[in-house]
This record gives sequence, structure tokens and C-alpha cells, in this order.
Amino acid sequence: MKTIALLGSTGSIGRQSLEVAETLGLTVTALTANRSVELLEAQCRKFRPRLAVCMDPAAAGELKLRLADTGIRVAGGMEGLLEAAALDGTDVVLTAVMGMVGLRPTLAALELGRRVALANKETLVCAGELVMETARRCGGEVVPVDSEHSAIFQCLQGCRDRGEIRRLILTASGGPFFGKKREELEGVTVEQALRHPNWSMGAKITVDSATMMNKGLEVIEAMRLYEMPLEKISVVIHRESIIHSLVEYCDNAILAQLGSADMRLPIQYALTWPERTCGPAAPLDLLNCPPLTFAPPDEENFPCLALAKAAARTGGTATAILSGANEAAVGDFLAGKIGFGEIVRRVARAMDAVPAVQSPTLDEILAADAAARRAAGG
Ligand code: MG
Repeated sequence: MKTIALLGSTGSIGRQSLEVAETLGLTVTALTANRSVELLEAQCRKFRPRLAVCMDPAAAGELKLRLADTGIRVAGGMEGLLEAAALDGTDVVLTAVMGMVGLRPTLAALELGRRVALANKETLVCAGELVMETARRCGGEVVPVDSEHSAIFQCLQGCRDRGEIRRLILTASGGPFFGKKREELEGVTVEQALRHPNWSMGAKITVDSATMMNKGLEVIEAMRLYEMPLEKISVVIHRESIIHSLVEYCDNAILAQLGSADMRLPIQYALTWPERTCGPAAPLDLLNCPPLTFAPPDEENFPCLALAKAAARTGGTATAILSGANEAAVGDFLAGKIGFGEIVRRVARAMDAVPAVQSPTLDEILAADAAARRAAGG
């Protein structure tokens, strides 16, 4: 029997994680959200965690009133999130919060030697070396929930010598604007950017898929998670999202993981690994699949991918600057303040304006993130 603390339970991944937890009969020790009080209350009444947390202090106050009859303790803010990550009797901390907020709870869980099922890629992009070093030092585990990284993780099972790996191949759907030119993309609307062809996800990551920044962040995520140099990671456009990623070995064998576009499978594997169990993810019907196609990524018309690789090459806080600037710019785009084409320019501007620090401490990473957000703003 496994117990989980779920950080970010009201978002897309959080809701699907609870479906998996219910199917697997897991005990939920803590649930956290930003400010979706109504949904969090319903989840608490169903799963009966010991602790419920809202990041937003006003929402935490309201949740406390709503849950007054339940005996569930309510906390607020980053302190509450850290408490949820460190709650005793928890086997796995599943981190599905959006953005930089996920970093400190992830470190707190790893310091206790826990498994972190990580759906929050910004954590590894901003502070991957620190996170992996903490896991090694404290006996914690980082298991990916991101579908591409889960696919690679699955293709690496049984690999005893990392030297046998020639390259990791991340697949990318290409998003809603595949095949378009940069000029055509300048004025696309929020609604168009949120229309992902294959996956149903949160707004920030869906916009990241449309700019291809998502794949850039995933390249960095793979570098950190698998401790691979940039040259050993490739991206291939695979419009059908049936192959979720691949590993090429030195003998020219390529292993791939296939499945329906259903996040519940990678969520479940991060919880049950090294075992597999029956679960709620939809099966893949091979006989009714479209033909599988592959194409090179278009970095000229989708320059976010090239920007992410440049940040990866610079290293240090450059990837935190990239990610923080992108989070701010995407927030402004979703709020209708800037156009789609402005996102990449804002990120590039922040990368020019904020100097990168090598081998950063946690404080230096947080400072780089804050400076990047300022540099990318209005
Ligand atoms: Mg992904």
C-alpha cells in the first residue's frame, strides 16, 4: 500500500492523478491547490487527506471554514506546501504544481529520501543539478511524470551501462501551429494557441507547446534527469503523439514507448515503478492508429527551441532565466496583454539582460528567476 501527497491537485495532472490514486487504492495524505477552493474541498471530502493547503492565503482561510466539520487540517502559502511535501507517513510526493513554486517542496521531499513523482518540469529546468544532487545525497528518487521523460525512463529499464546510450529522442507533436511561418504566428489568438491537436493540458503548457518552448524545456529536463549532454538529445516531430519518446543505443537498436495520449499512464508508472499494475489509462488500438510520421523540428519559425538550447549550453542560472522569463511572458499572453510573437522576444530580451551565474545556490536560482520575470515584463 502506497501513500501519496499530491501537490497541485486541482489542475489537469492533479485531477488525473486522483483518478489513478482511486483506481490503485492509494491513501492520500495531503492535497494542495493554489486557490480552487471549491474543487479542493470536494477532493478533500472524497480522499480524506490529513492536510489540505491553499497557496493563496485568502483561499486557505475560506477552505478552513468549509472543512471545519471534517477534522482535516488546513494550511496556507509556501509553508503549507513544504509541510505537505514533508508530511510523515508519505511514500511518494507527486508534484503537479505549475511553475517555479514546485522547487522548494521538491527539495524538501528529496531531503527526506522520498520519491518525487515529478510533473513540474520547471523544477528540473531551473535547478536540475541541485535537485539531482539532493536526491543522490539524501537517497531520494526523481521519477518523471512528463510523458516524454516517462517514455525514456521506461525505455531505459534494463539498461545497466549509461555508456551504451547513443542518444535520447524526444518526440514533439509540433502543436497547433505546425508548418506555419513566423510572420503568420505574430497575431494568433489565445484561443487558437490553446487548441492542442492531441493532448488536453493546462493553459501554460499548452501555450508552451504552441511556441515549442515546451520541447525546449523538455530537452533541458532530459539533460538533468538522465545526466546527458545536449548533443545526446534529439527532438523529432511526430504529429500523432503515439510514440512518446525513444532511446537509441550504441548497437543501433531504438526502443520506443507507445501508448494513447493519456497522462494517467505516466502518472501511474511514476507511482508503481518498478512494478506495473492495471490502471485507468486508455489502451492503444494499433489497428486503428494513423500512420506514424516523423519530421525535423523547425527552429527558424519556432525559435523558442533554439533559445532553450542556447540556455542549456550556457548552463548555470541561464535555464532558470529562460524558464522564469517564459512563465512571465506566457502569463501576459494569456492575460491578453501581449501578442503571441512577443513571447519569444521577451524571453530573448531577459536572457540578454540577466547575467548567468555558474554552479548556483538555491538563492541564486530564485534571484535569477525573479530578475528574469522583471526583465520579461512590460
Ligand atoms: Mg511532455
